[in-house]
Amino acid sequence: MIATSATAEGLGAFIDASPSPFAVCASVAAELETAGYRRLSETEAFDDAAGRRYVIRGGSLIAWNADGAAGHDAPLWIVGGHTDSPNLRLKQHPDRRSESLATVALEPYGGAWLNSWLDRDLGLSGRLAYDDGGAVKHALVTIDEPILRVPQLAIHLSEDRKGVQLDPQRHVDAVRGIADARPIVEWVAERAGLVPGSVLGWELMTHDVTPSRLIGTDRELLSAPRLDNQTTCYAGLRALLDAAPGSGIPMLALFDHEEVGSGSERGAASDFLVTVCERLVGALGGTRDDFLRVMASSLHVSGDMAHGTHPNYPERHEPGHRIDLGGGPVLKVNQNLRYASDAIGEAEFALACRRAGVPLQRYVHRADLPCGSTIGPLTATRTGLRTVDVGAPQLAMHSCRELMAAADVPMYSAALQAFLAR
Ligand code: ZN
Repeated sequence: MIATSATAEGLGAFIDASPSPFAVCASVAAELETAGYRRLSETEAFDDAAGRRYVIRGGSLIAWNADGAAGHDAPLWIVGGHTDSPNLRLKQHPDRRSESLATVALEPYGGAWLNSWLDRDLGLSGRLAYDDGGAVKHALVTIDEPILRVPQLAIHLSEDRKGVQLDPQRHVDAVRGIADARPIVEWVAERAGLVPGSVLGWELMTHDVTPSRLIGTDRELLSAPRLDNQTTCYAGLRALLDAAPGSGIPMLALFDHEEVGSGSERGAASDFLVTVCERLVGALGGTRDDFLRVMASSLHVSGDMAHGTHPNYPERHEPGHRIDLGGGPVLKVNQNLRYASDAIGEAEFALACRRAGVPLQRYVHRADLPCGSTIGPLTATRTGLRTVDVGAPQLAMHSCRELMAAADVPMYSAALQAFLAR
């Protein structure tokens, strides 16, 4: 395998520092700055886009390395992923009293596997928008302490003791204490160092505060929240930083809002990627026609997690397509284009795995079960970029706590690096 700086321990630390999409962007930006990348603003001219640069739009981030000889017709080698994960988020009037307890009203975001959020110590993170002398500013906040908990119903109070049906409206509010407390947003604002009463808007979400860790008798497994899809954010970042200059411009494109369909100003269905690409080619001296030529010769690897074959439910998986934890990166193919892969893209990623010296596994979803999707088909539609969907294997996707093999982290990053350095 080619040399890589990606490790399972590194991924665990990245995830623990990044409970919200905004925090993911901050974690990636900090690593990029250390490696000599400079932030550009979309509201300013892109004259200075040659070199190592990145742009942030809300919870989304695009970075590229156009150092050295990259001309205005160099193809773009893009690794894509998403920064958001399913969770429980704060409502607009969150403060409640229910029976004897102070509670906080929460709402599921994306396809959260609700049962997994019960009986866990939860922190809060996200961003606050506040009045700063008549102008709206925003601040990121991470409270990595157990301040909330959604308690499960006692088994003796369930009707048949077999299971509890969870209603996303009634059953996921969190307990925060007993006494009448200050409004939760004010409490968070003070923790963020803001003047109480100045906060006028928020995107606040819960996270499991238990740190990620290697588990198993031989510590071969990584137990962590948000593996889907911070594994790609981390592995793609390490790949970008490790990649030696190749035939094109390596890029990393990480999008918010994948778990709710990508339709926002910063989601994968937005103009974020295509406008950054156009402005980059322009800043390198290219015309509009050069930009269109570059897009036609570029390639996008859409990275998202893949379902490893579950030891307790092997019948839920397509026969003959077992996906092993620790078995290496996964190529995802779907005839109904829930994944964007085509034959050429498949071969390009298979070649990258060959160059990286890592095995490749091929995933097909059962035809009688609904297949999830990724940013792949959306970005392909929006940009016209040839796109291939890939990932790393995991279990328990969309659970509050997910599981993957430690060995897959460096293998996945090495494959992405080989692609970026092609
Ligand atoms: Zn995902």
